[in-house]
Amino acid sequence: MAELRADFAIIGGGIVGLAVALELTRKHPRLHTMFLEKEPAVALHQTSHNSGVIHSGLYYKPGSLKARLCVEGAARMIEFCREHGIPHAVCGKVIVATCEAEFTALDELMSRGRANGVRDLRL
Ligand SMILES: Cc1cc2nc3c(=O)[nH]c(=O)nc-3n(C[C@H](O)[C@H](O)[C@H](O)COP(=O)(O)OP(=O)(O)OC[C@H]3O[C@@H](n4cnc5c(N)ncnc54)[C@H](O)[C@@H]3O)c2cc1C
Repeated sequence: MAELRADFAIIGGGIVGLAVALELTRKHPRLHTMFLEKEPAVALHQTSHNSGVIHSGLYYKPGSLKARLCVEGAARMIEFCREHGIPHAVCGKVIVATCEAEFTALDELMSRGRANGVRDLRL
């Protein structure tokens, strides 16, 4: 088997591996990024078998890394799709309380969303 050499080796061509590869090639255009995928094409696993939602960052604890990255990531994902002509819909989301006991949870989500900087929230 021929010996392969690279500065970076990424194993797995799901959205995470592909995003890392893109960022590495942008940041280090002169270095060699090697990409290893066991399937015949990329994104054949979880990346193409999910709910397809660009999460807004409503649920995560304010101040947490997840909250910050989710809000920033959603905006960057939409920007990326627009820039590259990738079909997507910014259709919003309706979260419903099905009984009075769930009103408090709805209020909590509203506060979290506001604290996390999620835009266009309405109660
Ligand atoms: C039911 C469900 C619904 C979800 N809904 C959403 C959603 O609506 N919105 C959202 O943002 N996220 C959602 N997620 C989460 C999201 O799908 C995952 O976080 C994301 O796809 C993970 O990407 P990944 O690149 O880490 O993994 P994967 O997409 O699984 O990619 C891993 C890749 O590594 C390759 N690989 C594995 N082992 C090797 C090896 N030894 N050598 C070479 N290649 C290898 C695999 O073939 C695969 O291509 C959902 C998750 C689940 C389970």
